[in-house]
Amino acid sequence: MKLRYRALLLVVALVGFAVACASEGGGDELGPDDTTTTAAPRTTVADTTTTTVPETTVADTTTTTAAPRTTAADTTTTTSVPEDSTPQEDPQSSAPAGLVTPTGIPVAVLGRSETDYLVRTPCGNTAEVSKGVFINGARVVIDPGHGGPVDTGAIGPNGLIERDLNLTLSRAILDELASRGISAVSTRTGGYGTLLSVRAALANDLGVDALISIHHNAPTWAISRSPGSEVFIQSESISLPRADSARLGGLLYEEITAALATFDNVTWSKAANAGVLRVLSSNGTDAYGMIVHPTVPAVLVEYGYLSNPSEAALFATDEYIRVAATATADAIDAYLHTDRPGTGFIQRPRIFDPQRAPSFCEDPPLE
Ligand SMILES: [Zn+2]
Repeated sequence: MKLRYRALLLVVALVGFAVACASEGGGDELGPDDTTTTAAPRTTVADTTTTTVPETTVADTTTTTAAPRTTAADTTTTTSVPEDSTPQEDPQSSAPAGLVTPTGIPVAVLGRSETDYLVRTPCGNTAEVSKGVFINGARVVIDPGHGGPVDTGAIGPNGLIERDLNLTLSRAILDELASRGISAVSTRTGGYGTLLSVRAALANDLGVDALISIHHNAPTWAISRSPGSEVFIQSESISLPRADSARLGGLLYEEITAALATFDNVTWSKAANAGVLRVLSSNGTDAYGMIVHPTVPAVLVEYGYLSNPSEAALFATDEYIRVAATATADAIDAYLHTDRPGTGFIQRPRIFDPQRAPSFCEDPPLE
């Protein structure tokens, strides 16, 4: 039964290839996001709901409410492996917010006993681990989109798999942040899958300043002379973007599009309303899971179109990874340490209704 279920999901995933990242985040509380959804056209508010979603000005809200973050000292996330044999009066009091298990899996810590830590697994189960490296003082969570054998994300014409590309870029971003003394944690450190709700909960539990979900887009849109990067941000209300998410998104858009534009001989793909924008379900709420679930400031970045042969060739290069990682870290650095507002804001939200996907998740070994 389980095998038949997996086979069905694989078929659905293959059918869903054509839409790939168009339904990023999926809006699914529990399941992998976009490979199991069916095709849906990109529509804009101008097409469908002009009267219900008033136009708003992101620049106004960000410039008046954004505050510079210059006081908190950045610290590294790693400390010594905890001693696990000391009896505690209050088991909760000595538990870190998160830890990296002996197999390298970052997890939130829900509590501890005399000998073990109770953790939330990538598939949203609870498990006990005997030790790990504490996560303390993280300021940023990087989320490599997709994961596992079913949720591959987009697949380029050169065979490059989005699940793997996102992980490669995320690792480079984490290295770049570490070199700047900005402590950051990844939601996924290998090819395994993890639920959107678990990814978001890790960021929430750690209380970080920013969550950035890393993606590459499909299907190919119109050919363009400039990069078609898209950054999706959180809503404050149906009519207003959340100011901190918008500023983070604007800085990422600004730095990433400027950096990608330096590559010569790339034929880009771009949607008509590419930029920094909200994607709302037809009921007026944020559509994507990685935008809905986080309580911390969060954005989802589509760097470019993996479905576009010219861009896919670029994404396979080490130089792309280096340039994209540096641009991303530049934006995060600016978000944490300046009051720059960012650019590229698209006022009208895009309307998109992701279909709820069946969940598939298999926990990796924790130790
Ligand atoms: Zn994706």
